[in-house]
Amino acid sequence: MMEQVDCVVIGAGVVGLAVARALALAGHEVLVLEACNAIGTQTSARNSEVIHAGIYYAKDSLKAQLCVRGKALLYDYCAERNVPHSRCGKFIVATADAQVAQLQAIRAKAAANGVNDLVLLTAEQARAAEPALQCLAALHSPSTGIVDSHALMLSLLADLENAGGILALNSPLARAEIAQAAITLIAEEGTQLRAKSVVNAAGLHAPALAARFAGLAARHVPTPHYAKGNYFTLAGRAPFSHLIYPVPEAAGLGVHLTLDLGGQAKFGPDVQWVDNPDDLVVDARRGDAFYAEVRKYWPDLPDGALQPAYAGMRPKINGPTEAARDFCIQGPKDHGVAGLVNLFGIESPGLTSSLAIGECVAELLAD
Ligand SMILES: Cc1cc2nc3c(=O)[nH]c(=O)nc-3n(C[C@H](O)[C@H](O)[C@H](O)COP(=O)(O)OP(=O)(O)OC[C@H]3O[C@@H](n4cnc5c(N)ncnc54)[C@H](O)[C@@H]3O)c2cc1C
Repeated sequence: MMEQVDCVVIGAGVVGLAVARALALAGHEVLVLEACNAIGTQTSARNSEVIHAGIYYAKDSLKAQLCVRGKALLYDYCAERNVPHSRCGKFIVATADAQVAQLQAIRAKAAANGVNDLVLLTAEQARAAEPALQCLAALHSPSTGIVDSHALMLSLLADLENAGGILALNSPLARAEIAQAAITLIAEEGTQLRAKSVVNAAGLHAPALAARFAGLAARHVPTPHYAKGNYFTLAGRAPFSHLIYPVPEAAGLGVHLTLDLGGQAKFGPDVQWVDNPDDLVVDARRGDAFYAEVRKYWPDLPDGALQPAYAGMRPKINGPTEAARDFCIQGPKDHGVAGLVNLFGIESPGLTSSLAIGECVAELLAD
């Protein structure tokens, strides 16, 4: 007889694990299917590890709501579970006259999202905190931080397993067949499994996988797009203790400086639209453009100090010329399939939002 499970989560990135944990804590029997031989080796291992404050997102968007909620949940969780993190704060810096007014607009946008702690600093005040910084003015975000994302994922997995959940590695799902009472999942090696609920948390591959769910109307599956973000590390120690961000432009947040918990600084990610989600090699020549960008706020960046590091791939559901899309959390009311939740376009701030996405999906599957 075919094996039967209550809930199956596809993908063991930070979002899949947070969702699986939430479902297991809500009393469900949970199985996580992960294609790779370890958890969190894809986008969840290739990001900035920043706990975002919730500043830039459109009011009432899922990104705004889940980032602000997720941030609060994440700080509490990290403190409770000893997950390494730091509430180091960030500066958003204006380096041209026109950007000074933009800082005010950013502050108002943040306030609309319930982020009321941004402080406007003069150049002198900013330099008093960060002597190497050059700017005309800055916004200080005290609730921005950094987290050890792998330690977070290990802790989420431990919670899942303590609540009786199971992780199956090396278990790529090939497709699914949707019927009235259950969803049949078919693994790449042919094994079949019946589930009452299925959460598609396959990250970059979530749209392609959903397209192989027989019984889900094609109009509910967005076209995937991929925006690579390249990082360059700084040789030597950075003279900064806060994260430093320029005023944001187009598809990303600008070439910013982030620190890891060991104090290592990296710059990036830039935005490079590509066709292949596996195209993760950093093109060293892209570093040339970084020098000019970084020197706008850190004029003393030495020549030759930036080294190609790694790249991450943004799981976009809008193309380069289309308007930016919100997170797409698609439940039964959206697509009409009982027990199915698809997670599409979970780009930044997906790490920050992960625990809140977990809550949200558990609510969608509560009945
Ligand atoms: C450059 C960059 C910087 C970022 N910086 C930040 C940041 O600073 N702060 C922040 O909050 N967010 C950030 N993000 C966003 C964050 O990294 C993502 O939102 C988050 O990691 C997504 O997690 P996930 O679990 O959805 O996806 P993933 O980590 O990609 O996990 C999906 C999993 O599904 C598995 N899978 C795929 N197909 C199948 C299948 N058929 N069967 C079984 N398993 C399958 C994959 O192997 C993978 O393990 C950044 C993203 C990028 C790209």
